[in-house]
Amino acid sequence: MAALDVLDKFTGEIIRSLPIAGESEVDAAVRRAQRAFPGWAATPAHRRAAILLGAAERIQTRRDEFTALIAREAGKAWKHAAGEVARSVETFTFAGEEAKRIHGETVPMDASAFGEGRVGFYLRAPLGVVSAITPFNFPLNLVAHKVGPGLAAGNTLVLKPAEETPLTAILMAECFRDAGLPDGVLELVHGPGETTGDALVRHPAPAKVTFTGSPPVGAHILKVAGLKRVTLELGNNSGTIVEPDANLEQAVPRTVMSAFANAGQVCISLQRLYVHETIAEAFLAQFIAATRALKVGNPLDRDCDVGPMISDEAAARAESWIREAIGEGARPLTEIKREGRLLWPVVLTDTRPDMKVMCREAFAPLVSVVRYERFEDALAMLADSPYGLQAGLYTRDLYKAFKAVAALDVGGVMVNDTSIFRVDQMPYGGNRMSGIGREGVRFAIEEMTNLKLVCFNLGD
Ligand code: NAP
Repeated sequence: MAALDVLDKFTGEIIRSLPIAGESEVDAAVRRAQRAFPGWAATPAHRRAAILLGAAERIQTRRDEFTALIAREAGKAWKHAAGEVARSVETFTFAGEEAKRIHGETVPMDASAFGEGRVGFYLRAPLGVVSAITPFNFPLNLVAHKVGPGLAAGNTLVLKPAEETPLTAILMAECFRDAGLPDGVLELVHGPGETTGDALVRHPAPAKVTFTGSPPVGAHILKVAGLKRVTLELGNNSGTIVEPDANLEQAVPRTVMSAFANAGQVCISLQRLYVHETIAEAFLAQFIAATRALKVGNPLDRDCDVGPMISDEAAARAESWIREAIGEGARPLTEIKREGRLLWPVVLTDTRPDMKVMCREAFAPLVSVVRYERFEDALAMLADSPYGLQAGLYTRDLYKAFKAVAALDVGGVMVNDTSIFRVDQMPYGGNRMSGIGREGVRFAIEEMTNLKLVCFNLGD
C-alpha cells in the first residue's frame, strides 16, 4: 500500500506516514460502518450523548497534545490552534446536548378535509452511513462539525480528513474509542482527495456526503455523488465595511486578526476591507502598524501570530496573485516577503474588483483595503461576489445595519464584527458558490436526519 507522509509544516520533517486507502479499503470501511449502523441507530440518546460528552472531556484533558499536533501538521499558530481545540470541545459538547433533543412534532392532519379522523406526527430518523470529507485548515473543529452531529443523530460515518492534516482526526478518533464508541461507528480513511476521496463519494452505500472544502471540488462532488444527500460548505472572498462611526479601538485589532489568523487560510478570512474615506488615513495607520507587529514564524512559539501556509505551492500561488495585482496597479502597504511556506502578511490598496486578490478566494495572509465615499457604494461592492458565506459591517447606525442585512445574499451578517465571527451552535453556511446547506450542530443534525411521518387512521 502506498504511504502518505504527513509533514511538520514549519520544519518540513515527516511526523508520521500513513497507509493510503485505495478503493477496496474505502469499500471495507463503508461496509464496517454499514454493519455498525443498526446498533448505533438503536443506541439510546442518553448513551450517544454520554459518549460525545466523554470524547469532549478527553479532548479537553489532552488539549495541549491536540494543540501541538494542529500547530505542527497544519502550521497553525499555537494560540489559534489552542482556540480551535477549545471550540471543538464546545462543538462536541453541543452535539452531546443536542443528541437528547432530536424530536418531531404533531401534524394537524384534519386541517385537510381528506385528513379527518387521522392523527399524524413525524420523527427524525438517522440516514445511515454518512461520508465526511474535510479540509486542512481546521483539522479538528471542522471534523467535529460532521462527526458530532452525525453521531448525535444516530448515523455512522466514514471520514476522509485532508491528506495534509489527518493526524488530528486520528487522535480525535482515539478519544471517541476511549469514551466507548463501538467499533465501526466512526471509520477513517486516508489519502488524496482525487483517489481516496473520490472512491468514498462514488460509493453507492452511504446515504449522504457532507463536504467542507473548495468550490471546484464541491461542484465535482455534486456531479459524481449520485442519489445522495449532499451538504457543501465552500469558500468565500469575505468582506467587511468600516463606517466612520465605528469604534476603531475594537475594529483595528479585530480586522487585523480576521485577515491574518491561520495565515489567512480561513473560509471567512477578511480579504476585502472597505473603509470610509474620512477615517481611512487614521484606520490604515493603526492597521499597518498592527500588521507589521505580527510575529511570523514557528507556530509552536506561544507568541507566534502567523505560521506557515499549508504548502509551498499554496504560498507561491498567493505570492503570484499579489505580484500580478501589483503589476496591474495595486499598491502594497507592507513588504512582500516569502520564505517557502512562510508568507508575511500583505496589505494592498488601489486594487480593482476584477483582480484575482479581490474576486477569487485568496486563502492567504492577504487583505485589500478599499476606500469609499458613500455607504451604498460600499455595500454594492461588498455584495458584488459570486460567493455568499459571511460578511461584516462596523457601524452604530441601525438603519445601515438593516440595509446591509437586506442587501447581502450571504449565510451570516456580522454587525460590529468582521466576516470571521463564528460560534459553533449558530447556523453556518453559504449561498451560491459558498455552498449548499447549513452546519452548526442543531442545523447539521437536521440535514443528517430524515423526517418519518406517521399517520394513524382512527376512523372505523
Ligand atoms: P479542497 O482542496 O477542496 O479539499 C477539501 C477536501 O476534499 C480534502 O480532504 C481533499 O483531499 C478532498 N478532495 C479533493 N479533491 C477531491 C475529490 N475529487 N473527491 C473527493 N474529495 C476530494 O480544500 P482545501 O484546500 O483543503 O480547503 C480550503 C477550502 O475549503 C477553501 O475554499 C475554504 O474556503 C474551504 N472551507 C470552507 C469552510 C466552510 O465551512 N464553508 C470551512 C473551511 C474551509 P486532499 O486535500 O486530502 O487531497
